[in-house]
Amino acid sequence: MTPILLLASLTFLGYTLCYLAVCTVSPWGRCRRCHGRRFHRTAIGTRRDCLRCDGTGIRVRIGRRLIDYIRAEYRAGKP
Ligand SMILES: [Zn+2]
Repeated sequence: MTPILLLASLTFLGYTLCYLAVCTVSPWGRCRRCHGRRFHRTAIGTRRDCLRCDGTGIRVRIGRRLIDYIRAEYRAGKP
C-alpha cells in the first residue's frame, strides 16, 4: 500500500469515527429543508409548517439512524 493511500484511508476513517461520535452524543441535527426555521414561505407569502421535520426544525442525523438500525438488528439477532 502506498503511503498516500494509507494516509487517505486513515483520514477517511478518522472523519467517519468523528461523525459517528457526534451522532452518538447529539443525534439531532438542523432540518436541511427549512434550515431550522420550522416553516416555509409559500408562493403567496403565507407560512406553512415544514413537512420534512413536522415543524420542529430538527431532524435525526443519518448516522444516528444507521447506529439505531444496527443496534436494532443486533438486539433482534440475540438468542
Ligand atoms: Zn424542516
